[in-house]
Amino acid sequence: MQTLLRVKCPNCHSSVLWVAEQRSKPFCSERCKLIDLGEWAMEEKRIPGESLALESEDESFFFH
Ligand SMILES: [Zn+2]
Repeated sequence: MQTLLRVKCPNCHSSVLWVAEQRSKPFCSERCKLIDLGEWAMEEKRIPGESLALESEDESFFFH
């Protein structure tokens, strides 16, 4: 008899059955998967945001 493996969704921590039908695993749903990936994308966008602050400094110098 095969026992089904259960994992916890990294996003909402609900129980997920580790089966082939579960395409979003280890997430419980496609939505949780997208939320988690979205958070990673946000982290990456923080770094170029700092160089934009330097550009606005140059702009204020230009208006003097
Ligand atoms: Zn979830």
